[in-house]
Amino acid sequence: SFTVAIIGRPNVGKSTLFNRLVGKKLALVDDQPGVTRDRRAGEARLGDLNFTVIDTAGLEEGDSASLTGRMRAQTEAAIEEADAIFFVMDARAGATPEDRHFASLVRRAGKPVILLANKAEGRVGEAGAYEGFDLGLGDPVALSAEHGDGFAELFSCLLTALPEATQLADDDDERRERLVLADDEEGSELDPTKPLRIAVVGRPNAGKSTLINRLLGEDRLLTGPEAGITRDSISVDYLWRGRDAERRLKIFDTAGLRKRAKVEEKLEKLAAADTLRAIRFAEVVVVLLDATIPFEKQDLTIVDLVAREGRALVIGLNKWDLIEDKAHIVALREEAARLLPQVRGALVMPVSGVHGAGLDALMGAVISAHEVWNKRLSTSRLNRWLEGVIDQNPPPAVAGRRIKIRYITQPKARPPHFVIFGNQLDELPDSYRRFLTNGLRQTFALPGTPIRMTLKQGD
Ligand code: GDP
Repeated sequence: SFTVAIIGRPNVGKSTLFNRLVGKKLALVDDQPGVTRDRRAGEARLGDLNFTVIDTAGLEEGDSASLTGRMRAQTEAAIEEADAIFFVMDARAGATPEDRHFASLVRRAGKPVILLANKAEGRVGEAGAYEGFDLGLGDPVALSAEHGDGFAELFSCLLTALPEATQLADDDDERRERLVLADDEEGSELDPTKPLRIAVVGRPNAGKSTLINRLLGEDRLLTGPEAGITRDSISVDYLWRGRDAERRLKIFDTAGLRKRAKVEEKLEKLAAADTLRAIRFAEVVVVLLDATIPFEKQDLTIVDLVAREGRALVIGLNKWDLIEDKAHIVALREEAARLLPQVRGALVMPVSGVHGAGLDALMGAVISAHEVWNKRLSTSRLNRWLEGVIDQNPPPAVAGRRIKIRYITQPKARPPHFVIFGNQLDELPDSYRRFLTNGLRQTFALPGTPIRMTLKQGD
């Protein structure tokens, strides 16, 4: 077995994490009143892993006079005892000077560290979690110790951080079974009570403003607020009433931004920055093309940007009223599939902003892309699929060494993110990686979303 120390400045949620890992009962026993303990230890369970966890949270209640020195000493002692470290920061507060101080203690120890951006329930913590990147402790895992979110990813990270201690032996079928059973929740991270955030991006003159105005019902984009529309600095909140669906939307307000922009800003630069800002704001991005001149270089660049930012995507072919031969859509869809492999299967929807045609279908596509983007696949289904794939098409041997793929999990959605564990995976050819990504896309119906795949050494 192994030991993990929970480190971090006061109030980031170390105790809550400790309690979550060891279970409430145990923690209470360890936490008897009158017993002043600066460090406490408990038997933790995460996924199918059992290990010892040390918490330094007791310090927070101590008298403040000598706190800093004691805290430092206790932290160092805990680090010394541990095989790995959970470094906890508060995602809502971002990275503070105190975090940096503790981070430097931890870095110096040279032990495996997993950075946890805690209190990240919902999306509120996202910005602060980004700040975690510059603590120099690797990518943060967004966590809510209180709500129990993010533990699947924490589990994956722990397997990677301590490959020997947590190794799944080739013949350890029983453990593999337990692992699969432990995480058999199939589902979605979609929260239907929250408005779906969309942005319409595209080249100048593709018809973005016309389309957004049409979606909002004529010229309200420029004149709001009106009934049913509230407007904040960057977006318009609004209820889309389609033929068969209603959905609350938050539409990125490009026009509003442009109006406020400083005159001296170069228009071109502004357009590029706007596009990126819009993409980062959105969950689903509608890339609007001018159907009379589709798939220009700039269009492809924009699609690429959407994919890199990990957003769901729908292609709108605007000015469809100008296309005489409507059967042309077949060729255009084929072209999209060929030119945009990174978002294979993205829906390509003809629309006319000027005439208001195709909007219902476009919004249907947006809603379905959003569902796909939120999808969470169970570990058991994924591994059943993976076994079949490897049986039929095993990964190649490179330089006489066998590449071994052990198993797969999906720790994150939005966009779907898969982690594959195995040996020699750094040798895995890109073609095989693409083969796996496309297999996932087809088998589990994941069109129109970027797919993230991380390969992790499990040996
Ligand atoms: P933006 O720069 O992408 O916001 O584009 P605009 O919405 O300002 O539209 C650019 C031009 O294309 C305007 O002259 C619009 O009238 C025209 N336009 C926009 N949508 C359509 C459409 O669906 N059909 C046609 N025929 N023209 C359109």
